[in-house]
Amino acid sequence: MQHRLRTLAALIAAGAVAAVASQAASAAPPSAPPASGKTIVSPIAPGKSGQRLTPPTLTAPECPAGLTCEVDPAAYAQNSSDPGDYGNFDLASRPAHGLGVDYVVIHDTEISFDSTVHEFQNPLAYVSSHYVIRSADGLVAQMVPTADVAWHAGNWYVNSHAVGIENEGLATDPSYFTNSMYDSLAKLTRYLADRYGVPLDRMHLVGHDQVPGPTAVFQAGMHWDPGPYFDWARFMSLVGAPITAGGDGTGRIVTIDPSFETNRPVVTYCPGGSCAQLPSQPTNFVYLHTAPSAASPLVSDSALTGTSLEPNGVGTTQANDWGDKAVTGESFAVADRQGDWTAIWYGGRKAWLYDPPSAPTTIAGGGTLITPRAGLASIPVYGRAYPSSVSTATLGYGIPAGQVYVSTGTVGASYYSASTYNAPSTYAVYKSETERFYQISFNHRLAFVRASDVEVIP
Ligand SMILES: [Zn+2]
Repeated sequence: MQHRLRTLAALIAAGAVAAVASQAASAAPPSAPPASGKTIVSPIAPGKSGQRLTPPTLTAPECPAGLTCEVDPAAYAQNSSDPGDYGNFDLASRPAHGLGVDYVVIHDTEISFDSTVHEFQNPLAYVSSHYVIRSADGLVAQMVPTADVAWHAGNWYVNSHAVGIENEGLATDPSYFTNSMYDSLAKLTRYLADRYGVPLDRMHLVGHDQVPGPTAVFQAGMHWDPGPYFDWARFMSLVGAPITAGGDGTGRIVTIDPSFETNRPVVTYCPGGSCAQLPSQPTNFVYLHTAPSAASPLVSDSALTGTSLEPNGVGTTQANDWGDKAVTGESFAVADRQGDWTAIWYGGRKAWLYDPPSAPTTIAGGGTLITPRAGLASIPVYGRAYPSSVSTATLGYGIPAGQVYVSTGTVGASYYSASTYNAPSTYAVYKSETERFYQISFNHRLAFVRASDVEVIP
């Protein structure tokens, strides 16, 4: 969810769950986006008015047969005299009027199931998700209609195109991720994907940790749940889309796929600045190094340089330092190979991962390879695919000439405008007739580049 995990995890560990909600907001860093994910955008160009929308209401749970689901409606209320001050979600009419559901975003709650439901029912929380799954038995509570836009991802573009699912648990303690929870999550995800046409891949079935900031200033504060111990390979198998080798046989693309059970790298956690090593346990990522050597520094992310995660501009083993971790199911273009090491293009640089032939941590992957168009020294990277009439703000990174990234194809530019309480006649979807973006696997997180900035490598 849209809370700071470090503080919450510490509170949970201390048994102080009831205190979480009030402390969470104050623990948010200055750069954290609002729970809605909305950020200020420039005025919309005249003549681009979109379709009018008619919102639905939540009566019966939207759930597949065989799953135990209940309805616990999230709050929808105005909180002050300002019609722009309301919680906890936005009315919409997805997928009508061109506002497609393209992602399922998977979270963990960092607080108990009951506390989560309670919080989403408080309009002053300014946070919600469509579903919450209980750890002990896999019970599914639906809180927001899937036609509406819940506030969970911290990126308005992603929110407006996603269904959010919260799982009761902690990013640092996989014991909450029970068989029942995985089963319910997978069944629900498959149901949603089938219904809305969400591709069954790791570019569209994503963790909150893969969601980019809307713009550069938000990138460092983006969340990292469900964390390093969520079993993505198992989840994808249960969904019915196991992570398997693919591609064109050229070896140009790899998909991260370490053996979950035996992949147990050192992971530390530093709540309140006091670091400890987490237990050795199955883990879903591989570390990325600056050279083909375990002794070389871990790569850094420019957005994290100078923060507590990468204070010295060098990647760390902290669980929430997403800048040096490539996660199971993510695909990257191969930049180099040397002995037991494979280099990938990652976040605007070459990054090395240990990938010995005797126990490979990658498999052959597929996708569309894109690179900056000839003549461009570097191209900008975006956290959303907005029409330029709405915003041209970037994510702060550049892709230099010669680097290659993996895409699942293009998306049109779109923006959902819904900024006042219960005024559906004013809500609209804005689209550009001409602008398209490639969604790419950029670093740990997704990103977008303009189709006009790149060329496809055949
Ligand atoms: Zn989350």
